Amino acid sequence: MELIIEQIVVYSVVIVFCLVVVILYLRSQKMKSNIVEEKIAQAKIDGLYEPVSLHPVVDFGSCIATGACIQACPEKDILGIRNGKATTINASHCIGHGACFHACPTEAISLHIGTEKRGVELPHVSQEFETNIHGIYIAGELGGMGLIKNAVEQGKQAVENIAKSLKSSRQSAEYDLIVVGAGPAGISATLTAKKHDLKCLTLEQDTLGGTVFTFPRSKIVMTSAMDLPLHGKVKLFETSKTELLGLWQTVLKNNNITIRENSKIESIERVDGFFRVGTKSGEHFNTRAVLLAIGRRGTPRKLNVPGEDLEKVAYRLLEPEDIQGKNIIVVGGGDSAVESALLLAANNKVILSYRGETFGRIKPRNGVSVREAVEKGILDLRFNTNLTSITKEEVVIRVGSDGESTTIKNDLTYIFAGGELPTQFLEKVGINITKKFGEAILKH
Ligand SMILES: Cc1cc2nc3c(=O)[nH]c(=O)nc-3n(C[C@H](O)[C@H](O)[C@H](O)COP(=O)(O)OP(=O)(O)OC[C@H]3O[C@@H](n4cnc5c(N)ncnc54)[C@H](O)[C@@H]3O)c2cc1C
Repeated sequence: MELIIEQIVVYSVVIVFCLVVVILYLRSQKMKSNIVEEKIAQAKIDGLYEPVSLHPVVDFGSCIATGACIQACPEKDILGIRNGKATTINASHCIGHGACFHACPTEAISLHIGTEKRGVELPHVSQEFETNIHGIYIAGELGGMGLIKNAVEQGKQAVENIAKSLKSSRQSAEYDLIVVGAGPAGISATLTAKKHDLKCLTLEQDTLGGTVFTFPRSKIVMTSAMDLPLHGKVKLFETSKTELLGLWQTVLKNNNITIRENSKIESIERVDGFFRVGTKSGEHFNTRAVLLAIGRRGTPRKLNVPGEDLEKVAYRLLEPEDIQGKNIIVVGGGDSAVESALLLAANNKVILSYRGETFGRIKPRNGVSVREAVEKGILDLRFNTNLTSITKEEVVIRVGSDGESTTIKNDLTYIFAGGELPTQFLEKVGINITKKFGEAILKH
């Protein structure tokens, strides 16, 4: 009898222990799930939930919530586990590493472009990267696939195809190929053109490097090695902007290639069987083929005010942590202007000038942060003002269209006045574009 009682006690203790463990586990899962739920709600408020480009889609039927996708993702808070299934959170921050796709042990993730709600405009390109206009090709992120290594690979493949196609015709022109844009795709294309001995000119509206250099972030992640033409395998899995830029510059220099910076292409026309490519400054070049490697970020809009060509004027914010003790004016009323002004205000005297009476459609979180910064006296916010001129040490801002003008001491001027989308440029050139509403680009 005693033995039976003893056994009942032991079993009861074990059962209670197991129950406690299960309850604690379920509670912790529920708590984690709630945190993800809150992050999703915030992402929806901030407009970050709906993806803008390539992003993962989870098949709930196959997902067993191992969390491998979350661990593999080099970015933060793109994915989380909610109610026992992986789900996207800040999907618009996904830059398409695809690490989640490869990491999932049950193959529950596929990569899609656009969503039912938010279509993504993409140009038509053939397998050879040629558009509907014979002789005009597209490579890199403009075609829909993000990432440096993809851009490098596509730049290379596109020029391999162009070289083959040019061989079959005996026409000659000032150039065999003009590459537009010197991001990773354009650089790789330029190197491949050199390899094939093509007469090639590469024109970049800004400076060498492309999109990654226009964002205030120094870490660059590459989930696999890339094969850079005329150089070989690059195994930089985690690198910095400086290191990557140094690599581009060295490889180009070693191959005697000069890229023309500050040359924005504004027109491409067919003239007598060639393409006549025109820059903003009025230069024209004749070429047999064109490769557009202009990415998807577009061209910043200028204010066209006197002094805008001064070196201290910028349309993007690089390395804000290195800017200290300066008198700065940030112009604009969108999220980029507000976020940049807030970042700079930590270590500088910053005026945020916006022509509107209030901010239009900024993220609620930015609205709160800007109000707090103004209340604390960290940020000088001036609605209903227009920047009218810039000199080396000053700027002039005017109230409204004909109000009082004030001259202000100024070291740096940042202008965030929107920009021209690459799709607008493509349409002007005559390239066909379609909207993708959630099409799977990569699936098992
Ligand atoms: C915040 C952020 C972080 C990222 N981090 C990573 C990362 O860690 N790892 C990674 O692999 N990828 C990352 N990416 C993605 C990566 O930057 C892009 O996929 C890649 O740069 C695309 O290369 P691209 O050459 O196609 O275009 P881009 O890099 O966008 O280059 C296009 C170039 O064309 C120029 N151009 C545009 N229009 C014209 C014109 N009309 N005339 C002349 N020139 C023009 C532009 O000035 C630009 O230099 C990140 C992207 C962002 C936004």
